[in-house]
Amino acid sequence: MTDTAPVSLYAAQAKIYPREIDGIFARLRIASMVALLGAFYGVAWLQWDGRQAVLFDLPARKFYVLGLVLWPQDFFFLSWLLIIAALSLFFFTALAGRLWCGYACPQTVWTEAFLWMERLVEGRGPARRKLDSGPWTGDKIRRKAAKQALWIAFALWTGFTFVGYFTPIRELGAHVATFSLGGWETFWILFYGFATYGNAGFMREQVCKYMCPYARFQSAMFDQDTLVISYDRRRGEPRGSRSRGSDAKALQLGDCIDCRMCVQVCPTGIDIRNGLQYECIACAACIDACDGVMDKMRTPRGLIRYSTQHAMDGRATRIARPRMLVYAGILALLGAGFVTALLLRTPLELDVIRDRNALYREARPGYIENVYTLRIINKDDAAHEYTLSATGLPTLALETEPALIEVGPHEILTVTARALVEDGVSGGGGHTIEFTLAANDDAAIRTTESGRMFTP
Ligand code: SF4
Ligand code: SF4
Repeated sequence: MTDTAPVSLYAAQAKIYPREIDGIFARLRIASMVALLGAFYGVAWLQWDGRQAVLFDLPARKFYVLGLVLWPQDFFFLSWLLIIAALSLFFFTALAGRLWCGYACPQTVWTEAFLWMERLVEGRGPARRKLDSGPWTGDKIRRKAAKQALWIAFALWTGFTFVGYFTPIRELGAHVATFSLGGWETFWILFYGFATYGNAGFMREQVCKYMCPYARFQSAMFDQDTLVISYDRRRGEPRGSRSRGSDAKALQLGDCIDCRMCVQVCPTGIDIRNGLQYECIACAACIDACDGVMDKMRTPRGLIRYSTQHAMDGRATRIARPRMLVYAGILALLGAGFVTALLLRTPLELDVIRDRNALYREARPGYIENVYTLRIINKDDAAHEYTLSATGLPTLALETEPALIEVGPHEILTVTARALVEDGVSGGGGHTIEFTLAANDDAAIRTTESGRMFTP
C-alpha cells in the first residue's frame, strides 16, 4: 500500500545566534558601523549658511548638499554620481569581493546595531539561545520587552532621521514634540522605521540570502584573482581535533582542529570550509575566529584569510589585470569629469520659450517683432543684476519687461522679451538667434541659449 500523506517541503529557518568575536576585522567592522551610523544620524542636524546642510527639498525641487544647491536641471550630476557608484561597486567587487556587504551595506550596519542592543539586554549567543528556548518567566518577559522598546525607539529614530533629509529636521522635531506631524511625514517615519525594525531586527541574514539582488550577481564579477575569504584547504585538511602542542604532522592531520568556531561566529550560519558560497557576506568574522584558534594552538594565523583562487592553487595572483585597469581608468575619467563639471558649473540657467500665438508681428512701422518668455534661474547664493543681449541677425535689438533684470539668490524670474529687427534686413522664414544673459557683477556668470526668430 502506498503512503499518500502529504509531505511538506518547507523547513522553517532556524534562528542564528552568531557568537561574538574580537579581532582586527571585527574592530574594522565596528569602526565602519560607527562612522556610517554617526554620519547618517549626525549629518541631518548640520547647518550650512543658516540652512540645513544636506536637505532634499522635493516640493521646492532643490537639493542642498553643503554649499551646493542642485536644481532639477542639475540632475545629470546625480545620474553621473550613480554611474560612478555602480562602477566603484564593480571595481571593488572584482578587487576584493563583497567588501560592500561586509562593511558598508545598510542591512549589515543596522543588523549589527540591532544585534548589539539584543546582546545588551539578553546577553551573549548561548544565553540568548537559552532564553529563547526557556519558558516565559518574569525575567524573560522583562528582557524581551526591554529589547523591543529599544529596537522600536531606535527604528523610529531612524525613520525620523530619514524623513529629516526631506523635511527640515528641526521643524520636523518641533512637529513631533507638539504632536502636529503631517500625514505623509507620519507615514514615512512609520514606514521607514518599520522597514528598519523588520529587516535588522528579524529578517537579518534572510535579506542577504533571499532578497538581495547583489548577492545573486556579484559572483559574475569575481575571477580567479579576486580577493575572497577563503579556507586554505591544502593547509587545513585533513581536519581533526587534537590537544594543544601535539604534532599535527605525526597525527597526519592538517591545521584545522574542527572546533567549528568559524561556523559559530558566522552571521549567515555557513561553513566557509565548504568553499565560497553566495550566502557569505564577507564580514570576515570567521577569519578573526580562526586566527584566535590558531593563536591558541600556536600555529600561524591565516588558515582562513583574504586570498585569491590562484593563490590557493599555488599560482601567482595578478591584481593589475586588464579588467581592473579598465575599471580604474573609466572610474578616474568619470571622477575627474564629475569634479571638473561641478567646478565649472554656472549658477545661472536660462530657458527661452517662444510665444506660440504669432510667428511675428509688426511692432511699429518698419520693425518686425517676436515675443519670448524667458525663465531665469539664479542658482547662486547671492542676488545678481543681469544684462540680456541677443545676436544672430543684423539690427537685432531687445526690449524686456521688466527692464531691469534682477534675481534673488535661488530664485526664478520670468521675463517677457521682445526681439526686434528692421523689416527686410534678412530673408523671410526662421532664423536662429542667441540670447546671452550675463551677471553685471561677475563676468564668470553668463549663459547663452538659442531661440528661433521668424520674419516675413
Ligand atoms: S575556526 Fe579554524 S580551526 Fe576551527 S573549524 Fe574553523 S577553520 Fe577549523
Ligand atoms: S563565512 Fe565568514 S565571512 Fe562569510 S559570512 Fe560567514 S563569517 Fe562572514
